[in-house]
Amino acid sequence: MLNSDDVLDTQGSVRRANLRRALQLVFRGRGVQTRAGIARATGLTAATASSLVAELIDSGLVVEGAQAASTGGKRATTLSVDAAHHLILVMVIRPTDARLALLALDSSEIDVRTIAYSAESRDRKLDEAVQAIAADYGERLLVAAAQLPGTTDGRKVLESVQLGWSDVPLADRLEAALGVPVLLVNDVDAEAIAEAVGEVQSPGYRLFVHIGVGIGAAVTIDGQLAPGPRDRAGEIGHVQVEFGEQARLCRCGRRGCLESASSMTAMLGEDFTDAMDEGEVTVLARAVDDVIIAEGARALARTVKLASALLDPAEVVVGGPVRALGERFLDLVREEADYLATGTTSVPVRYARGGTNPSIGAGQLALSSALGVQWSAEQLSGTGADGS
Ligand SMILES: [Zn+2]
Repeated sequence: MLNSDDVLDTQGSVRRANLRRALQLVFRGRGVQTRAGIARATGLTAATASSLVAELIDSGLVVEGAQAASTGGKRATTLSVDAAHHLILVMVIRPTDARLALLALDSSEIDVRTIAYSAESRDRKLDEAVQAIAADYGERLLVAAAQLPGTTDGRKVLESVQLGWSDVPLADRLEAALGVPVLLVNDVDAEAIAEAVGEVQSPGYRLFVHIGVGIGAAVTIDGQLAPGPRDRAGEIGHVQVEFGEQARLCRCGRRGCLESASSMTAMLGEDFTDAMDEGEVTVLARAVDDVIIAEGARALARTVKLASALLDPAEVVVGGPVRALGERFLDLVREEADYLATGTTSVPVRYARGGTNPSIGAGQLALSSALGVQWSAEQLSGTGADGS
């Protein structure tokens, strides 16, 4: 594939790098890219650009579209992403259900299947669903990604308390059934990637904090995950941020953790679950004392302030069920974090945009891994993936 660089094969790897650049230009081109445009943007000759495009068309990655507006002389043919050929499978695995979506290369979903299970039937039902997809789409599958709660090194589920999995070689199992490369991604990491997709205007670090029953975070740089050598970047939920009398008992057994103050359970009580919809969360939030919400905001603000001083991120994005608390909560966080510690600058804090397509984060990761390219913000809005 385009990413299989062989360091000894210099000519081959230069060619693959150029194929990736050309393909990325088509992905960003909103259907109006041309061979001449690729030559201009890359500095390659017209002949080389044409040869790259020919290979991309043969590979089922690019299609020719209508004729571009004439700039004098022969009309150029436009190029678009080929949405009719290769497919990306994205599996969102949760404790009691899973969503399996097949995405075309332009990020549109062409088939979505949901399955429900218990802890006992989960493995069997997932296997059946994956086998059905392999039977229906096997020839067209390019790559797959499975998104799940818990830590993963991309190949194994290291630990998932919610799924009751520990050291499970899930990628191997899925690859055997699907016959294509499979990668695993933590659900918060996938959310963070989804928020950073298409953000070419503001590169740099982006800090993403998911707040639900638990708190997880992820750091992206230029839209790519920065997971750390032990795959633990973003595990901030049980870092102590409250001390003395303010430190409440946490579900991990220690006191004063970020989760003990700022998780949705800490703020809204034990009735809160991650399965609640926004309306249900709003009802629950109305009954809560403002002081509790303010304490949660303060603990989060301390964490955000320290992480921002360290990373100088373009922005801090807060996602997950906490969005139902509305601007009231975010304003409190901003107020608490809004003091000018010497040498720092104030970093914008916003809620995640979310989006109607829950497959985008893991799908983008799979796309980068298979083809080395990124969707553009325009592509995602064109397929209804961006809910803003
Ligand atoms: Zn804790």
